[in-house]
Amino acid sequence: MPYESRLALSLSPYVAGEQPKGRTFIKLNTNENPYAPSPRVAEAIDGLADSLRLYPDMDATALREAIAKVNGIPADRVFCGNGSDEVLAFAFAAFFAGKRLLAPDITYSFYPVYAQLFGVDYETVPLREDYTVDADGLMRGSPVALANPNAPTGIFLPISGIRRLAEHCREHGAVLLVDEAYAAFAPENALPLVEEFDNLLIIRTFSKSHALAGMRVGYAIAQPGLIEGLRRVRDSFNSYPVDRLAQAAARAAVLDTAYTAESVRRVVAARDKCRGALLAAGIDVLPSATNFLFVRVKGEDAAPVQQALRGEGILVRHFSAPRLKPWLRVTVGTEADMDKVTEALIRLIGQYAEA
Ligand code: PMP
Repeated sequence: MPYESRLALSLSPYVAGEQPKGRTFIKLNTNENPYAPSPRVAEAIDGLADSLRLYPDMDATALREAIAKVNGIPADRVFCGNGSDEVLAFAFAAFFAGKRLLAPDITYSFYPVYAQLFGVDYETVPLREDYTVDADGLMRGSPVALANPNAPTGIFLPISGIRRLAEHCREHGAVLLVDEAYAAFAPENALPLVEEFDNLLIIRTFSKSHALAGMRVGYAIAQPGLIEGLRRVRDSFNSYPVDRLAQAAARAAVLDTAYTAESVRRVVAARDKCRGALLAAGIDVLPSATNFLFVRVKGEDAAPVQQALRGEGILVRHFSAPRLKPWLRVTVGTEADMDKVTEALIRLIGQYAEA
């Protein structure tokens, strides 16, 4: 008999992108920020070592107040967790366990994993032919979860679509979860809907636009009823999910709005320049409202191009699901990184098309 529980044996865990050791790569495979976090972060965590003997503030009050201030909302609309992955997990347990959840078939691949862990019946709705989210299709049931902008496509569903989904879910007494991991790179976000919809749960991360993937901080924005649901799950799992260094670092990062805006501006400019060059070379690239591009090779399987890029010291992400197989997800790096990867993609996609 195995030692693991039936639950543990039944899981199909999430597989994260490679974090290479040893060799130095141009690392464009896990959607990290190519720029350092705000210099205020280093100042904020300097000298905190002595305080680490004490547990952190379980409610991350100063951090929540900073997030609230920057977003122009009251602090009781904010909940912080150990990366947005943890906040997502709490949300699945709090609002979806035992229910039938609808989500796009192509989206963040952690959702079906949480669904399995927390006993959620997970039903998928195919993206349309052009890889956009089928909002009407998602209205076949409720609750609903989606990433907006979506991953790994990068495509943004206008907020009018999110509003219709929120209305639909509210009519059925269900939560709409909108994962805004990449919203800082998009033209708009769902924040203006939070006061109107008591069933809308927005989840965001410090890992992308704030360059703090190594700190593990994410947060939810919602009305207090939903925040209370997240708190109940947190306090049934780990009372102190965000440590002292992470609270101080994230607070400094979120308050430095000018720095974040400039870092986002550079990433968006490099993204649009790279997409323009690839399109001009006859390569299909989906429109992106994120810090990555979804690029199509000229064959059925992009794996050989991914491997060839790896050989040249460039890491990008490939997914083996049938509809994703001909595509590569390329994180937007520095201007110099993007010049290199643009040249390499045009050359290698051309080579493998001829082969
Ligand atoms: N949501 C989406 C759509 C993502 O791509 C990611 C990053 N893998 C996350 C959530 C999780 O981010 P983190 O746990 O670093 O906050």
